[in-house]
Amino acid sequence: MSPETIAAAPTKTAFNVERFDRYVMTTYGRFPIALEKGRGCRVWDTEGREYLDFVAGIATCTLGHAHPVAIEAVTQQMQTLHHVSNLYYNVPQGELAEWLVKNSCADRAFFCNSGAEANEGAIKLVRKYANTVRNIEDSVILTAKASFHGRTVATITATGQPKYQKNFTPLVPGFDYVPYNDIAALEAALAKHGEKVAGIMLEAIQGEGGVRPGDKAYFQRVRELCDERDILLVIDEVQAGMGRTGKTWGYENLGIEPDVFTSAKGLGGGIPIGALMTKEHCNVLKPGDHASTYGGNPFVCAVALSVCKTLDSDDLRTNAYERGEQLRAGLQAIAADYSNDIEQVRGWGLIDGLVIREESSVTAIEVVKAAMAKGLLLVPAGPKVVRFVPPLIVTAEEIDLALQATREALAETLGRA
Ligand SMILES: *Cc1c(COP(=O)(O)O)cnc(C)c1O
Repeated sequence: MSPETIAAAPTKTAFNVERFDRYVMTTYGRFPIALEKGRGCRVWDTEGREYLDFVAGIATCTLGHAHPVAIEAVTQQMQTLHHVSNLYYNVPQGELAEWLVKNSCADRAFFCNSGAEANEGAIKLVRKYANTVRNIEDSVILTAKASFHGRTVATITATGQPKYQKNFTPLVPGFDYVPYNDIAALEAALAKHGEKVAGIMLEAIQGEGGVRPGDKAYFQRVRELCDERDILLVIDEVQAGMGRTGKTWGYENLGIEPDVFTSAKGLGGGIPIGALMTKEHCNVLKPGDHASTYGGNPFVCAVALSVCKTLDSDDLRTNAYERGEQLRAGLQAIAADYSNDIEQVRGWGLIDGLVIREESSVTAIEVVKAAMAKGLLLVPAGPKVVRFVPPLIVTAEEIDLALQATREALAETLGRA
């Protein structure tokens, strides 16, 4: 069956939530729908209800669902060769690395399977650089408060949000936290740790922590401070990268180049992949230092390459920029009409947040639930921010539909429908 036929078919699969929850660990607070199929920016649940998907696997399905180019890449590579060990070379891995290097400030790529794993690699690289180039054994990496870097032990430590760390002590030594976009606080932390600071790891725009864009002057000063002290600047591009902000990488919005950056979410367009990218001057990882069994296998690399090529061929960066402008303009109009409850709209390209006032009785999750009932999938970014991260192929018409549903959901949540 073609994806068209699958999407159009009015299937209704019996789905039992209790049965699911009996066998799957209950680590997620799930919404009570089961998604069964998708096409473009739309998904359908097992009851046959249709949704406009402005979550996109949380900023992951760059090309939406069932994109013909991705289907072709999946099929073709699966029929050719899907997995071999990194004991051998494989063609798609080299091609994907080449695209990433030619489309970024980095010189080399290492492939893994997720954002957390890419950040683990970045942490290892920073530590090895500190150990071997700067002779610091007990180095420190500074990260931002309200950041998000993943769910492994090292990356929850890097994540500057206590809620992700609670009950998982002991955490990993060698991290400290600074408020985001605050240069005086960063300078104080540098003074406190002296020579021991080996890396500063930041998101160009904080995603999970509330869709908070980086401040250009702040990042430019961070870059200078890193240069002065031989500190590696690591940018976590897991959520913002791959065209989502309207540029290939979030850091391009800040006029700086990191020494190291990481990618994942949007890179595979829904196929699990992560990448650690480094400049040559700090490329200290040598044979035997780091590895991943699945990392960079022909299958994921061929699919990711199809995403990269479509970003170019379909001018998706421009679409992300233009649809983002449209989305934020529409959200601004909603914010103006509900200014008692909405504080602001912020974001870049297609990573945007509707920020609810701290003092408002409304929470992000309530708006998300009301929107879902109207056929629009959204995701909170913290208790007071509603996040919009649609596929980069989203159309002007779909943005308008999402804005209408958001307005209605907000009105209803506020009891003013
Ligand atoms: C989602 C995310 C991660 C973690 O990625 P996983 O693939 O879930 O491990 C890391 N950093 C940022 C900025 C993210 O948004």
